[in-house]
Amino acid sequence: MVCTKSPRLEESMEEETSFYAEEGTLAHELAELKIAKEAGFISKQKYTSRIKRLCQDPLFNEEMEQATEVHKDFCMERFNEARAETKDAVMMLEQRLDFSPWVPDGFGTSDTTIITDKTLEIIDLKYGKGIAVSAIENPQMKLYALGAINQFGFLYDLETIVMTISQPRLDSISSFEMTVDDLLEWAEKEVIPKAELAFAGKGTYCVGDHCRFCKAKATCRARAEENMKLAYLDFQQPPLLTDEEVVEVLGSIDKLVSYAKDIQEFALSQAINENKHWPGMKLVEGRGSRKYMDENAVIEALTASGFDSDVIYKKSLNTITALEKQLGKKAFQELLGSHITKAPGKIKLVREEDKRPEIKASPEADFQ
Ligand code: SF4
Repeated sequence: MVCTKSPRLEESMEEETSFYAEEGTLAHELAELKIAKEAGFISKQKYTSRIKRLCQDPLFNEEMEQATEVHKDFCMERFNEARAETKDAVMMLEQRLDFSPWVPDGFGTSDTTIITDKTLEIIDLKYGKGIAVSAIENPQMKLYALGAINQFGFLYDLETIVMTISQPRLDSISSFEMTVDDLLEWAEKEVIPKAELAFAGKGTYCVGDHCRFCKAKATCRARAEENMKLAYLDFQQPPLLTDEEVVEVLGSIDKLVSYAKDIQEFALSQAINENKHWPGMKLVEGRGSRKYMDENAVIEALTASGFDSDVIYKKSLNTITALEKQLGKKAFQELLGSHITKAPGKIKLVREEDKRPEIKASPEADFQ
């Protein structure tokens, strides 16, 4: 929808998976299974054998258990509300939605789809907790909604589409509602022209936050040029940067750091996995760290030599994050909420549009 040249540019590039992607997939499977069981779509026996397998996955933990419970409860609440409104309301899980009438080859998968007579709701689970994703005017959700209209519009007299993003690890539910007519108008005016350009590999490269989802992000020339613009500041006259230039650098730091990391990861992976030689660069081994080969053997050796437990062991409290993960958010809050205090965060300089309230940093304020 933004950089119409990207789909053709990245189509031959391999899909890379990550820890977060795999964690998200497992959470989706778990959530789907729990909703299916709660809604009576699968037998208890089937549920038990499948849940056992999922819980044995090394990526499964208490936090995932809690987050998927919260999501399941939310979806069931929405389904029960729909049933209260229309007796024969339906819910579908992992429904493939085909929006190819507007986007050639376009499809997506809706985690939960609930249909009453005139309203269709799609609920998307986002397991990540890095950034809160809003459903408001969210193009991914709107495209899925088009797919839903395409598939179910002829069966139901749909008037309204509700698009909801549930992000349980951030306690965030974001919902956005549109009439079917408005959505179809958006599809005609915005989606079709962009999709035609994208399918033909035409239009322009457009650099922005979305680049972090692009497979070409490390080697895209447009992104490199955008980030390298900052380097030109070195050659500007007079010798000292103006206030405006300092602000320009400040505003670009996050983008530059993320771009630099993408390049670093890409080049390293090519060198290690593809034997790629980058001119003037070489692979070396970083500083290793020492570790015990066999902890029991170490304990035995020290004990046999007469050292007592104070020398051998260290006892320390687990970190807040680790305990919260082990106990789950709810139990952690009930048990330890009153024992946690939060030190003020480090003062940062951010753009005026940032949602956090401005603070006054001055020697007088510090003194007060
Ligand atoms: S990295 Fe950004 S600018 Fe380059 S193709 Fe991908 S989305 Fe477009």
